[in-house]
Amino acid sequence: MNKPRSSEIKCGACNGTGFPPVRQPKPGRRIYPAPCRKCGGKGRVIERE
Ligand SMILES: [Zn+2]
Repeated sequence: MNKPRSSEIKCGACNGTGFPPVRQPKPGRRIYPAPCRKCGGKGRVIERE
């Protein structure tokens, strides 16, 4: 069994959602945050050794 060189893990910055947690400023008004900078909006990051 060969170990993969890298593995994808859930992004801790956005908790796997692809977007960082944001506070909704006003109820009923949706805001669209920028994709997570750490994972680029994928929700997963490559774990390097
Ligand atoms: Zn992320």
